[in-house]
Parts: sequence; C-alpha cells; structure tokens
Amino acid sequence: MTRRFCIATGVLALTVISVAAQERLDHDVFWKIRQEGTSNSQVLKTLHTLTDVYGPRLTGSPNLKAAGEWAIQEMQRWGMKNGHLEPWDFGRVGWASERLTAHIVSPVKDALVVEALAWTPGTNGTARGQAVRLTLPQRPTKDSLATYLESVKSTVKGKMVLINPPQTVLVAFNPTALRRDDAEIITQLNAAPGGGPQQAPAQAPQAPLAPQALNNNQLQSQLNEFLTANGALVRVNDAGRDHGQIRAFNTPSYDVTKAPPTVVMRNEDYGRIWRLLADGRTVELEFEIVNRTYEEGKTAYNTIAEIPGTDRADEVVMLGGHLDSWHAATGATDNAVGCAVMMEAARILTAVGARPRRTIRVALWSGEEQGLLGSQAYVREHFGTAEEPKPAFAKFAGYFNMDNGTGKARAMTVFGPTAAGAVLREALAPFADLGVLGATTTRSRNRGGTDHTSFNWAGLPGIGLTQDPIQYQSYTWHTNLDTYERIVEDDVKKAAIVVAAAVYHLAMRDEPLPRFAADQMPRRPPRRRNNDRLSSPRRCRWSRLPRYGCQFWWPQFWFSSPARWCTWCLATTRPTTGGWPMKRR
Ligand SMILES: [Zn+2]
Repeated sequence: MTRRFCIATGVLALTVISVAAQERLDHDVFWKIRQEGTSNSQVLKTLHTLTDVYGPRLTGSPNLKAAGEWAIQEMQRWGMKNGHLEPWDFGRVGWASERLTAHIVSPVKDALVVEALAWTPGTNGTARGQAVRLTLPQRPTKDSLATYLESVKSTVKGKMVLINPPQTVLVAFNPTALRRDDAEIITQLNAAPGGGPQQAPAQAPQAPLAPQALNNNQLQSQLNEFLTANGALVRVNDAGRDHGQIRAFNTPSYDVTKAPPTVVMRNEDYGRIWRLLADGRTVELEFEIVNRTYEEGKTAYNTIAEIPGTDRADEVVMLGGHLDSWHAATGATDNAVGCAVMMEAARILTAVGARPRRTIRVALWSGEEQGLLGSQAYVREHFGTAEEPKPAFAKFAGYFNMDNGTGKARAMTVFGPTAAGAVLREALAPFADLGVLGATTTRSRNRGGTDHTSFNWAGLPGIGLTQDPIQYQSYTWHTNLDTYERIVEDDVKKAAIVVAAAVYHLAMRDEPLPRFAADQMPRRPPRRRNNDRLSSPRRCRWSRLPRYGCQFWWPQFWFSSPARWCTWCLATTRPTTGGWPMKRR
C-alpha cells in the first residue's frame, strides 16, 4: 500500500461523506453528551468497582453474579429501568481459585509465580514433591501418546510434572504499536467490506494433518487422565510468554475430577526449574492450591437495563460488552472496560435528560470467554435468526460492542449494507477530534472474537469498535497483568462519549439503521472445523501495513471461528510461515 494511495483514498472518503451527508444530527444533545462525559465522568469509578471489588469474574463464579447485581443497582440509581439478570444455561459448575502459593524448596528456596488452570482441583493442603520433566511426542495419535505415557508411567507418582520444554520467547526488537496512524485507519475504512463466504478469497492449501493426530483438547484430556490415574501431585505448564506474563485458561473437560491440580508457571521460573533438572539436580517444589466449585454456577446470567423509548419504544438499540473475565487478574481491559464504557454511555444519556424514541438497552454478557455463550443465548432467545426470526428480529436497530482493551474508539464496523456504514459515519463525524475516524461495513456472519458477532451471525447489525491497541495484545489480554492500572483514563472517557452519541443517533433517527433486506442477507458460514486449531496460524491482512500488527487469529482458543477472518476486525487473514507459536518480528 503506497502512501500516495492512502492519501488518495482519504480524499475520496471525505468526498463521499460530504456528498452523501443527509443525517439530521442533534448537535445540541451531542454537545451535552460531550460536556457530561468530560466533566462528570463516572467511568473510572465503575471500572474500579468491577475490577477491584468483583474481579476476577469467571463465568459461573459468585463474583460474576455479584458484579451483575451491582451493575443493575448502579444503572437503576442513574435512572435506568427494567434492570434484571437474565439466566441462561451454562451447564458447568462455577469455579474459583481462592488461594495459591508456589515455592521451589530445593536445591534453592524461592517463591514461584503461577496461576491455577480453571476447572482443575486444589491440592488438599500443602503438596511437596520432586519435579520431573515430560517431553511429549509431536502431534501424537491416541496410540502413540498412550505408548509414550506408558513408558513414563513409573516416574509421575507423587511428583510435580512439568509438561514439555520451556518455550523460547524471542526478544522483540520492534516496539509494539500503542496508537494507530490515522492513515492506516482511513485505508481500512476505504477497503471493500470485509467478510462473507461469498467473497472468500482462494485459500492457500493447509498442511494436511497427520492421520488421527489428536487435537489439543483430546491430547490434554488423555494426558490429564494419565496424570490423575497415576498419582501425579501437580501438573505444571509453561506460560511461554515474556516478562512474567501468564495466560491461564481452563481444562478442556470443565470437570475437576478429570484433571490433576494444574498451574501455569511464568516462563522465567519454568525455565529455571527445567534447566536445574537438565543439570541432573534434584528439584523439590511445594504448592498449596485451594480451588472451589459452585453447583449454582450451572446457571449463568446476562445483566440487562434499559432507558425506555418513547414513540418507538418497541424498537431497540443495544450496547454492551462481556462482564465475565479470565481468573488470573481482575479483567480490567478484558473486559470491565467495555462494560464500564457502555454503562457510562448510558449514564451520560440519562444525565443529559435524553428521551430516546427507541429503547436503549445495555447488556453485559457472561460466558464470552468460553465462546460467546451468553450473547448467543440472548440473541437466540430474543431475536432468532434471519432464517428463523422471532418478532423482535424486525424491531432491532443495532448493537454496539466494545472488547478491544483500553484504547480509544477509532472506527466502527457494522454488519449491514453500505448505507448502514454511511449513517454511522455521519453520526461519528462531529467527534473526529476525539480520534474516531469513521465507520465501515462487513458482510461476514462469522461468529468469533467477541459478542457483536453473535448478532452478525444471526443476521442482525452488530457494531464492533476498532480501538487503539495500547498494550492489549502485548501485555494485558487474558493475562495476569490485566488490572485497573492499565486503563488509560482519557481514552475510556472519549470512547464513552463517542458511543453515547452514536447510540443516541440510532435511537432517534426517523428510520431504523439500514439492514440487509431478506434477499440480500449474506449466507451463514459453514459449520466450525475443529481441526483448524492445528493448522498454521494466520495473520490479519492489516498486519501488512507498516508498524501496525493487527490482532492475528488465535488458533489455540478461537477454534469456533472458521479461521479465515480476523476475529477482531473481520478482515481476511493469510497463513503465516513458521508454525505455532508465532515468532515475533
Ligand atoms: Zn474480551
């Protein structure tokens, strides 16, 4: 992409906006929104409560439910109505880590930095034992893994078992981007709409899988079954990230009886223990892990509150983010910030006395981290799909979602025809000084990444925010470092103002947000391919642009995506060379 082309397309975009401008904007209310959001912002107070008081907020845990109850109280205190928790069937017990200590006690004494893997059991008191190393065969089949495990069976009883050599995390010589250049965003906004199976480019052939190679879940399950049956004390995984970052997710079974106590250890401690063992030294480790399960967690809840509409009250504009987090930190950037910004946008609207024509509804989801489960359940229950619509399907006028960290809003992407993008573009134009540069559209009904895609999948206009990356991908996303301190106050205040204005406009305009007519509706993507997680990692096409490495597809977790589209911006992806884990450039 040449610089001249960027400038040319930028000029073209401005031209298109000025020719097509026809939205009647309420500049008076927009001014009040700006004032309220700047001078009386409550967003940090909200964020403090969601993180410091109620974090972490793992789906099914008492913390998450309490956070939802508090959010309802708070929103009703601001004057919002119809606050309630809406149950859906999670089907798994809740889980929480209550206490966790980890030490190396011989040949040296030191504290270790670890996080528990969710839905694994505790140690039943203090567990002390020798560390041993296992190096699993590469891409094993069920039989080859069984053969290997049989050969090491006698070595794991009463031991702390390290699984696989530590990952070598290369030094990153290029600093990661904190802000995005305007030119890059304008280029993205002027690109052809992303997504949709109809426009899928030819795919590079995927490396064929070895016959019957286990996928990751199968491998982990077989390994956990072996460790449990043979009396391993604790399973230790390498976090494989730099600077003490740990990402701890869940055991695939969501069943504490089917896994040993398991921790994810920071790469630096894991490497040290591995090297000591490689010297031939005896290493002893000590853990105390207290994890609890909650039967009542099988029912999870979405948190809902509304600003009732007036003459079009049966039509609804929604805004939200997921309230659930992973458990290794307090889930500030993922995603208390999205919830706090959306709550703040609604608070601003109540504070300026907005009387929206359409109902404005805040939804704070749960089960997002387990695969967008809460938002899917909600869309299914209330709206159905383009193929099997419920009555409310026709009355839906847009859902705004924020889930890309603390960075300010730079653009929006709406599932819908180009006219929908034009409406948002015009509504956002008065806020260009806050950093938001416009809107574009997508035709993709792929589900993955975050909750607005549950709406897109149904054929409803989900609207995702493009944000400045700040330290999301590099430090806070899903890590033990995701805390209140990493929030950029100015960015979240600006995001709330921009969202409040856009929501207000969609709730007020004469016509609902333009949507695909039935005969224009893009087809739903084919069913998920579970083996995608073993194919080579793919990188979003925007990563080709200078300096900005857009989020790439995340194969270990987002296997629910068909893996052809970036789960954040829904742009096409391309395969990378070098396999997984991806090398940093
Ligand atoms: Zn998230």
